[in-house]
This record gives sequence, structure tokens and C-alpha cells, in this order.
Amino acid sequence: MADSVYLDYAATSPLDGRVLEAMLPHLQGLRGNASSLHAPGAASHEAIEAARESVAALIGASPGDITFTGGGTESDNLAVLGLARANPEKRHIVVSPVEHAAVRESVRHLEQEGYEVTRLGVDGHGIVDPEELERALRPDTAFVAVMWANNEVGTVEPVEELARICIEKGVPLHADAVQAAGRVPLDVGRVPVSTLALSSHKIYGPQGVGALYVREGVKLEPVIFGGGQEKGLRSGTENLAGIAGFGAAARFAAEEFEERTRHEKELRDRIVEGVTTIPGVRLNGHPEMRLPNNVHLTVEGVESESLVLFLDALGYAIGRGSACASSGHKASPVLLAMGQGEREAFSAVRITVGKDNTSEEIDGFLEAFSRAVEQLRELSPLQTS
Ligand code: PLP
Repeated sequence: MADSVYLDYAATSPLDGRVLEAMLPHLQGLRGNASSLHAPGAASHEAIEAARESVAALIGASPGDITFTGGGTESDNLAVLGLARANPEKRHIVVSPVEHAAVRESVRHLEQEGYEVTRLGVDGHGIVDPEELERALRPDTAFVAVMWANNEVGTVEPVEELARICIEKGVPLHADAVQAAGRVPLDVGRVPVSTLALSSHKIYGPQGVGALYVREGVKLEPVIFGGGQEKGLRSGTENLAGIAGFGAAARFAAEEFEERTRHEKELRDRIVEGVTTIPGVRLNGHPEMRLPNNVHLTVEGVESESLVLFLDALGYAIGRGSACASSGHKASPVLLAMGQGEREAFSAVRITVGKDNTSEEIDGFLEAFSRAVEQLRELSPLQTS
């Protein structure tokens, strides 16, 4: 069978060939331990520091404020648990209802330990209201978590405004920027977030490596203990090849930002235009404040999984409402928070494009999509009319 047309870049992206090139020297032969004093150790240390500079440059940070981790999930856990543990006298947390499970579940863990959690609302597009955030802050608020851009519906939050409110009240804001990186401009010099999570595999880098930005002066306790690598914030021998790959991926993401986002927007808008001519298909998330590569749809009368599998059989790989929602058949909390009903939430699919997709692929997809929707509606028990 021919390769499918991949339209699920929010789940993960293919490894860029140039990134693989940058990784290879660190996978073959002797790879010194970056903590060793000898020349092979020093070479590894240098490669890690070069990668740190590239990752820092992608978000306008100082290299010293970047901690490498084992991925976006670990970065989010480190921020949530680390901020809470560093301020043990503060027992209140404010969180958006549209966070990725990496934030949502670590906050739930703290809640089980006795923390009080305020979950903000969102509007029908998934946007957090800055005034509501301001009202929720208290003297005992340990931190706030609002993601930069949502992994399901693609909505980009007003993070700058939210971060300014938090800074004024002296409360740290954690922003999960895993989906935003390389797709919307990120500048921690302008936007005063305290911590920010990144993941390599969403920007054509390897899986299993990420980073947490920690603004200078922000207190954070580690969650992994050991040899004290990464200034004690993330012990464990560094994933040298992974970090080198992440560094290269971040460099290309910065260099090719304009070109990639222009291309993605073009393809995204073409998909939206095409699919929304089908009756009962509508776009979720904010119409403008959204990721350049995200199309999230409700397809009335069709069940997400059937549509994903039908399109897969036709050679198109798209996502369900969320590729990260692994266990069970639960409605997406993001869509529920946006005011959708359970039934609607089970009719959602996500199409996310990337730098290597072509207009021809999108034309083929649009044809396949309308065929799939038509046939499934003929069969589907969800169909009411
Ligand atoms: N945060 C967001 C918004 C994500 O989309 C993802 C992955 O899908 C993660 C965190 C987790 O990142 P990782 O897969 O690197 O653990």
C-alpha cells in the first residue's frame, strides 16, 4: 500500500532529514557523558549547550533558562509540581479547563493531595477570559496554568494579557507552548510567563525530548532526583542525540517560520473552505486566533472514529478530537468546556497540516472527505434525519 497522506501533525511530525543528520554523530561510536571532564565528555557538553542556544532563540530566552527534559509531558509535570512544591505555603491553583492531560492530570494529582483548584471557564471558541482569571487570583495562589495554544481545537489564548495580570499579582503563569512552538511567535522577553513547556517531536525533531523554560528568579523544585544534571532541575544523563536533534529542529523552525506558517495557513484555509461547504460540518475553535495548521471539525451525524478509519482506508491519516486522549471512550473535556454536548463531542475530528503537505494532497483529501462523510451518513445510526 502506498504511504498515506499524513494530516495529523499535531499528534507528531516526521523527523526532518536535516535533523537526523544532526543527530547521527551523537548516536554512533563513542558518545562522551556530558558530565565527564575528558575531551569526549566536553564534546557532548558543547553539543548540548549549542542545542540549548537554538531552543532558547526560538522563544527569545536566555540559554541558561532552558532545562532539557524527556518531552512535553515531563516539562508540564515539572512546571506544575515544581512550582507547587517551591511555594509550599500556597495551596491554591488556577487552571484553564482546556489544558492538555499533562497539565490537567498533574493538577489533579495536587488536588488529591489537598490543593484547592479553581478551574476557569472558556467561551465557545475555547478562550479564557482575562477578567475571570484576575478575579480567581488569591494571595495563596501558587501558580496559574493556561496553555499558549490548544492541541485539539487550535485556539491561541491571549497569553500576553493573562501573563501581565499574573505578574502584577506576583503569581507565576505556566504556559504549555508545545503546539504553539514554530507556529505562533513566542517571545518570553515580551510575554512575562514564568515557565513554558516545549516538545521536540511537534517541530520535526525526535520524540522523547522536550524543554522547560524557567524565567530567572522563578523558584522551582525538581521532580526527578539524582546526579544534579540540568542545574539540578532534571537529573539523569542527558539524551545527547535527542537534544542535538531538538536543537537543530528549533533552529530550522525559527529560520523557516514565515515560510512554514504561510504555507500551513494556505492549506488550512483551503481545507476549511472545502469541508464547510458540506452541510452539517462546522469549524471548532476561534476563527482567527488559531494555529496556522489546525482544522478541528464537528461532522454532524458521523462518529469520529468511523470517519478517521474510513479516511485511513482511503489513504489519509487524520486525528480524532485529540490524539493524546488515549484511554477509554470519553468525550473531550475541551469540547465540553466550550459548551458542546457529549454527542457533538463524539463527532469531532482534527486535521493538522505540516510543512511537507502539498495542495494536490489537500485536493485529494477534500474529495475523500466528502465521500467518506456521505457514505458514513448513509450508514450511521447517529444520523437523525
Ligand atoms: N502539551 C500539548 C499541548 C501537547 O499537544 C502534547 C502532545 O500532544 C503534550 C503537551 C505532550 O508532549 P509529549 O508528547 O512530548 O510528551
